[in-house]
Amino acid sequence: MMENIENRGGTPGRVVVIGGGVIGVCAASWLLQDGYSVVIVEPGKIAGGSSYGNAGCFNPSSVVPMSMPGTLLKVPGWLLDPLGPLSIRWPYVPSIAPWLVRFLRAGTLKNVTAQAEALGNLLRDSVGVYKPLVANAGAQSLVRQDGHLVVYPTRADFEADALAWKLRRDNGIAYTVLENDALWQQEPALSHAYGVGVFLPENGHTVNPGRFVTTLAQAFLRDGGEIVEARATGFELDGARLTGVRTSTGTIACDAAVVATGAHSKAFTRELGDHIPLDTERGYHVVIPGSPVTPRIPVMDTSGKFVATPMEEGLRIAGTVEFAGLAAKADWKRAHKLLTLAHRLFPGLAGRDPGMETPVWMGFRPSMPDSLPVIGRSRRSRDVIYAFGHGHVGMAGGAQTGLLVSDLVSGRMPRIPIEPFSPQRFGRG
Ligand SMILES: Cc1cc2nc3c(=O)[nH]c(=O)nc-3n(C[C@H](O)[C@H](O)[C@H](O)COP(=O)(O)OP(=O)(O)OC[C@H]3O[C@@H](n4cnc5c(N)ncnc54)[C@H](O)[C@@H]3O)c2cc1C
Repeated sequence: MMENIENRGGTPGRVVVIGGGVIGVCAASWLLQDGYSVVIVEPGKIAGGSSYGNAGCFNPSSVVPMSMPGTLLKVPGWLLDPLGPLSIRWPYVPSIAPWLVRFLRAGTLKNVTAQAEALGNLLRDSVGVYKPLVANAGAQSLVRQDGHLVVYPTRADFEADALAWKLRRDNGIAYTVLENDALWQQEPALSHAYGVGVFLPENGHTVNPGRFVTTLAQAFLRDGGEIVEARATGFELDGARLTGVRTSTGTIACDAAVVATGAHSKAFTRELGDHIPLDTERGYHVVIPGSPVTPRIPVMDTSGKFVATPMEEGLRIAGTVEFAGLAAKADWKRAHKLLTLAHRLFPGLAGRDPGMETPVWMGFRPSMPDSLPVIGRSRRSRDVIYAFGHGHVGMAGGAQTGLLVSDLVSGRMPRIPIEPFSPQRFGRG
């Protein structure tokens, strides 16, 4: 029987959740439902980070790791293509090099098979796992489960992705391959330059990721949770026992803490003796308000590696990976490239009002080299639980991660195997 976290009176204790993104808000919401007194510490807006500007997809099918066999061979082409999905700022190369080495080493067949299985468990029935939180918050109108379309220019492009589809199949993901007329009937907005599409009926999405997370946070407040506007700076420990979280506005006494600070989590893990290779893949989006064409469901363009999602605000085109760390300024050319790519995908965008403003955004995916998040206890104190590093799948995996955090805090057996997500899987760094 695992020890659970109780305060000195033996009743469920107080938990501080550091970070108000999708992961922190989901963890806090489930912990509150478990009877804990819960405080979210967030210096900015709730869902003001990566959880604001993503493509909004709740995709159980996102089991395919970013580093796959053969990725190394594709990188030079991506880097040389001005519309390519990947860029590296040269001054950041020395900082990112060890992460990239781990990333490329992670992409063996044996590794990706194990990573896909772990992601399969985490992302299974993503929309269904969210349902109790969504119902409690009255957020049903923000969630759709109409499926997702992955498109390829040619049959050969689709076949080149055979391993990705095998990994999905092996992990129980249902899909239908559509070609030419069948595809264009399914998605009339699509350019006929795309001849193969794969329809994934179980995938879902939110029509507004920021509003989705803030709506869950409002329900958390209504149900008795607390949100403190402050920056967490570290931990108060009595030996291995956590007694408080230090913040910019004072120390908050607590019995457990959850580190859910996304790409900003390294400062906390270092203090607790864990050297975790977390970095960031910066991503961009551009929004086309009042778009003259709108796909019925999110469409992933595999050639440009971006997703076009129909949202409340318009058509959001989100994607690209930029290695430049947390400090460098945004390169808005990358967001504008997404617009060019979107025109290639949906020719009807040519009718767009050229005077219409296209809002742009950049955010920091919290990225691990093996494409698996970090969910587990810190080395120095069992009372501090990490929940970050979700890379491209934080929205899809948010609710399940929150449940795993509540299992760990409560001393319950985690509902899915969490060894693959161990903070200590990289050794001592
Ligand atoms: C372009 C793009 C498209 C994406 N599309 C999808 C998608 O379709 N589906 C999907 O599943 N995922 C997608 N993702 C990934 C997803 O957005 C992330 O995995 C997810 O938002 C991570 O959530 P988080 O809560 O860990 O981090 P964040 O949302 O970044 O939240 C971390 C929070 O911690 C706070 N914080 C930082 N430091 C401190 C501190 N010292 N004290 C207190 N708080 C602090 C920050 O202010 C922030 O609010 C996409 C990402 C990008 C960039």
